[in-house]
Amino acid sequence: MSKQTQTVGATGETTNPFEMVQQRIDTICKRGNIPEAARLRIRECQRELTVHFPVRMDDGEIKVFTGYRVQHSDIRGPAKGGIRFHPDVNLDETKALATWMSLKTAVVNIPYGGAKGSVICNPKTMSLGELERLTRRYTNEISLIIGPERDIPAPDVGTNPQVMAWVMDTYSMTKGYSILGVVTGKPLSIGGSKGRGEATGRGCMLVAKMGAKHLGINFKGATVAVQGFGNVGSVSAMLLAREGCKIIAVSDTKGGIYNPKGLDVEAVIRHKKETGSVVGFKDTKTITHAELLALECDMLVPAALEGEIRADNVSSIKAKMIVEGANGPTTPEADKILFKNGQFVIPDILANAGGVVVSYFEWVQGLQSFFWSEEEVNCKLEVVMNSAFNEILEASQRDKTDMRDAAYLVAIKRIEDAMTIRGLYP
Ligand code: NAD
Repeated sequence: MSKQTQTVGATGETTNPFEMVQQRIDTICKRGNIPEAARLRIRECQRELTVHFPVRMDDGEIKVFTGYRVQHSDIRGPAKGGIRFHPDVNLDETKALATWMSLKTAVVNIPYGGAKGSVICNPKTMSLGELERLTRRYTNEISLIIGPERDIPAPDVGTNPQVMAWVMDTYSMTKGYSILGVVTGKPLSIGGSKGRGEATGRGCMLVAKMGAKHLGINFKGATVAVQGFGNVGSVSAMLLAREGCKIIAVSDTKGGIYNPKGLDVEAVIRHKKETGSVVGFKDTKTITHAELLALECDMLVPAALEGEIRADNVSSIKAKMIVEGANGPTTPEADKILFKNGQFVIPDILANAGGVVVSYFEWVQGLQSFFWSEEEVNCKLEVVMNSAFNEILEASQRDKTDMRDAAYLVAIKRIEDAMTIRGLYP
């Protein structure tokens, strides 16, 4: 998604993620009779910071990078959202991701707003030292607006617990004392939460189980294809397999692998660690990205990037249920077609909310300096995910809409409610 506005497919639909989310907010606000002033506020981001900053590379050259921190809203609590390091990231993508975070935190009803950060860079081609210097300088630039009571970053595509540790350390250095609550997704040794690394994938698994029950799919033995094999995709696949699902295909940027008898997911994770890709794993057929999406299966878990399921490829999808591990994987046009075909979509702002829920738990534990067991974290996550799923399912049945529209309406109403009760300053 390298351009600010990009159209693909025969229908010429936009795949600019910020335009997509704005269009949907407009539609839902109209349908839900949301006051015009609230619609106008919710469809824009409250604060957008662009930074250009120098980093000394290993060969002595100084490169200037561009990054963003966007706060969509802090109306329901501190803004919250990950940091993405990716060569194609841009401001509109970051704004869309920030908006989805506000909707997501509202869907699962945790006291946060939404934010997102990004840096245009390719972490895969940078040394550890270069990444550390880039992270520290970026943190310094955005420290104007982040903080444990203001805006709390976390990992996203291209970042990980080590990057969060550098963010926390840099922020703490500028303040003169250690501030655990400035980021979540930290390593355990500096106030991370047990269960955070797996939380997004665990949330996907939990809602997939609820969805299967709703559709009458036998979860044990249900066939699954997973697009993207990073934090979200690999953990979702692993936890689904542990629940008895049969993972028949997974993919990463280099391509996909398929075995109709099911993959040993933990062995695939080891293979990817050793070789850099899932491709080449024993006893599998190599397949293309398009072939993975088109597989005959019960569940499809898109867990890569935005705009992967579009009007031009949606008709190839045969899965009965789509569990959106990624943010924004389905375009509005594709959504309509899936709904018409009776394919059940568990939308991103519900399906991948497990990460932000356990981030919230991490923040709470850090503020209290009192840490919970992994079992406690997982139990509390299950309660939140199950109740959010039930609430959205009920709303979708009542309003005769798909799960995404139902989730948007529930979220927008919560945000609007907070706006009304707080009143307008000045
Ligand atoms: P990641 O960088 O760990 O993994 C991304 C994976 O997608 C990699 O395996 C990459 O090779 C693969 N990929 C990229 N393009 C692909 C394509 N076209 N086809 C197949 N594979 C492709 O990132 P992540 O943290 O797992 O995030 C994945 C998605 O989940 C993003 O949309 C992110 O915003 C969302 N998300 C992440 C979290 C989290 O806690 N990490 C939480 C909520 C949502």
